[in-house]
Amino acid sequence: MASLPSTMKGVVINKTGGTEVLEYKKDLQVPKPKENQVLVRNSFVGINYIDTYFRTGLYPAPNFPYMLGRDAEGVVVSIPSGTNAHGLKEGDRVVYLSEGTYAEYTAAPAAKVVKIPEGIPEKVASAALLQGLTALTLIKETYNVQKGDWVLVHAAAGGVGLLLCQLLRAVGAKTIATASTEEKRKLAKENGAEVTIGYDEEEVKQTVKQYTNGEGVKAVFDGVGKATFDLDLDVLARKGTLASFGNASGAVPPLTIARLSAKNLKVARPTLFNYITTEEEFETYTKQLWDFILKGELNIKIHEVYPLTEVAKAHTDIEGRKTTGKLLLDPTK
Ligand code: NDP
Repeated sequence: MASLPSTMKGVVINKTGGTEVLEYKKDLQVPKPKENQVLVRNSFVGINYIDTYFRTGLYPAPNFPYMLGRDAEGVVVSIPSGTNAHGLKEGDRVVYLSEGTYAEYTAAPAAKVVKIPEGIPEKVASAALLQGLTALTLIKETYNVQKGDWVLVHAAAGGVGLLLCQLLRAVGAKTIATASTEEKRKLAKENGAEVTIGYDEEEVKQTVKQYTNGEGVKAVFDGVGKATFDLDLDVLARKGTLASFGNASGAVPPLTIARLSAKNLKVARPTLFNYITTEEEFETYTKQLWDFILKGELNIKIHEVYPLTEVAKAHTDIEGRKTTGKLLLDPTK
């Protein structure tokens, strides 16, 4: 492997705030992988809504300067001796989950790095991993969706949303999908939603009633958070499950647990990382994800690949609800 540079391009924050706190640097130190990490030269870096929570301070950054980013794709360029490399070798083309990916190089935990299978383009694997694993674990673990179930998915044209619509169709469920514009609703329908609507509460309630014979949906998959939480409890069927997995509209206020007893509801607040903690869990779900893609059951929509220098625009676009599917960064530009 060619010798590595000592500095790299990357984006860090030194305080929380608007997109102005995103600092593009050309002279960050290339990280040195510690034990059980591998160094990856990134080709595509994922943007996730969670990056905006760390930038604004909704989720506290553990330290400053802090580098955002949760996933990326690239080539393994260095493996420290003694590392359990999980079968990886230098030169492997990989996707992975790690903190600190808004850069040309990342020291990633080897246990969360996976080789890209034959037949899946690098960009596609990059755009699929984090949101795909999230969607898969939501429909298998948070609520094990059954064939014929009616479910509600919010923000259905977003990164996680579009994958949920497709996976739910693949397992035989029927999805009522919300999205804010006609164009987004069309996209959700093309990707597997049975019925698409806006967020108007009365319209959502009426639609759920109509399609479920008044019973309500078995599950709601909600990454919108504050704005839709109460509506979700209203439209769930008896014994239904609310999977509240994000806060795009703001954090959900504290819940009075007694509210659940009227219909014996379950409310879950899942995080992907707690479903893929063990090697076996990570491997199982990653393999399932690749299988869905290779079988042609999962179309990975990429909104745009932004140059790293335009990271602020990418944040503005996702927060401004202007995007559909996955946003990527090119860390070399
Ligand atoms: P998306 O691409 O889905 O973008 C967020 C979408 O939320 C927007 O496109 C918009 O769609 C909708 N939205 C609704 N209200 C608002 C609002 N007030 N401001 C901005 N957007 C709003 O992002 P991701 O796919 O990255 O993430 C989706 C959700 O899933 C996020 O909440 C994220 O935190 C969560 N997530 C959680 C994970 C976990 O492990 N728990 C893992 C991955 C993601 P529209 O215009 O149609 O309303």
